[in-house]
Amino acid sequence: MHIRTRFAPSPTGFIHLGNLRSALYPWAFARHNKGDFILRIEDTDLERSTQEAVDVIIEGMSWLGLDLDEGPIYQMQRIDRYREVIKQMLEAGLAYPCYMSEDELNRLRDQQMANKEKPRYNGLWRPEPGKTLPAIPEGVLPVIRFRNPIGGSVIWDDAVKGQIEISNDELDDLVIARPDGTPTYNFCVVVDDLDMKITHVIRGDDHVNNTPRQINIMKALGGIPPVYAHLPTVLNDSGEKMSKRNGAMSVRDYQKAGYLPEAILNYLARLGWSHGDAEVFTKEQFVDWFDLASLGRSPAQHNPEKLLWLNHQYIQHSDPKKLAQATKPFAHELGINTEQGPDFVQVVDLLKGRANTLIEIAEGAKLFYLPAPIHTPEQIAENIPAAIIPVIKDLIYALQNSEPTKEGYGAAFKQVLAQHQLKMPALAMPVRYALFATTQTPAIDSVLVVMGKDEAIQRLSKLV
Ligand code: GLU
Repeated sequence: MHIRTRFAPSPTGFIHLGNLRSALYPWAFARHNKGDFILRIEDTDLERSTQEAVDVIIEGMSWLGLDLDEGPIYQMQRIDRYREVIKQMLEAGLAYPCYMSEDELNRLRDQQMANKEKPRYNGLWRPEPGKTLPAIPEGVLPVIRFRNPIGGSVIWDDAVKGQIEISNDELDDLVIARPDGTPTYNFCVVVDDLDMKITHVIRGDDHVNNTPRQINIMKALGGIPPVYAHLPTVLNDSGEKMSKRNGAMSVRDYQKAGYLPEAILNYLARLGWSHGDAEVFTKEQFVDWFDLASLGRSPAQHNPEKLLWLNHQYIQHSDPKKLAQATKPFAHELGINTEQGPDFVQVVDLLKGRANTLIEIAEGAKLFYLPAPIHTPEQIAENIPAAIIPVIKDLIYALQNSEPTKEGYGAAFKQVLAQHQLKMPALAMPVRYALFATTQTPAIDSVLVVMGKDEAIQRLSKLV
């Protein structure tokens, strides 16, 4: 079987990490099986759908590297196709017009509720052999309803939830077209999944209730239902359903906060799927390992600390050149001119071991691109003990003669410290302050490598 999966978002606003996870799994399943992955934009809700939301989805997917084989396919561009299928269904007796007005429907519902029955359409306009239908009211445009089977049940083997069985008595005749002829949501999904030859529907479990209806329509159209895998929800860190209202961040927010796409992908992969106890893995490994059987059955909970930890892991092990490229926009945002001053790749390489985000790297990098500090006499008195000045003088001399490497500078410090019988902090702190007007810097020998000894000696010489 040639595997075909799809991600079918409704572009109605905010896209959080949980939403993108619904793209990641079908993508991975398609890639694992050398199949196709399709993006379908379910934009028939004209009032709520926006191009902005579509852009965010496409941008987010491409940022994570979820490449498409087909699409984006917009449902609004397939309206003629849906109408065509509705026409065929009417002709084949699989669907029928229903003239029940809103008022009548409401009355029916009230009555059913009063009798403690489940509100459902009563089949008034459903043609049956030997049944006389009511007279068609004048000037009323009908909805089109699907003739749901009567009796029996819909059964499917959900790849996540196991076997699910829903009695057909629970399902009334679904409206598939509104009075103005526009098709309804569940109907479009079926036509699309059939036309697009989708073999596996991997989606959020908020769609479980739609599935029996979709299967019935699909079978009526002569289709074979795909495999369904309904993913448990993603909860936020306080255990509520993830949503913008309770503080979820959009994919763009993570990008702006200095997260690497590899870290997000790895994080999302583990948010409801596992492979033994593997926590950090490459995209290739993920694709290689991905299977539906290892999807989690209970809701996954968002864990911001874990995401930050993963981001740190990815930053720490990144190729410095690539990392510098990714960090540049953040540095520029902070007003750093990466072209003037020390080599940015070296700076990033120095800082990556301790940074959790690209913003943290950029902030750390600032130090190396600020002009040399001008200290007031008071600042000097406070931060550079007078007794250290001669030591700094000796250090300048030792640095002049040292190899321009971490080891060389380390040896220069050692020699001067021994000469004056001092411990490292007694010299390193004032030197840091002299160089940068702060004592918060990475290891001083590494700092000297990055800033270059000429610049360092120039800055130190102003004190002696
Ligand atoms: N458009 C639906 C949503 O965004 C998904 C439909 C589906 O995957 O079948 O929730």
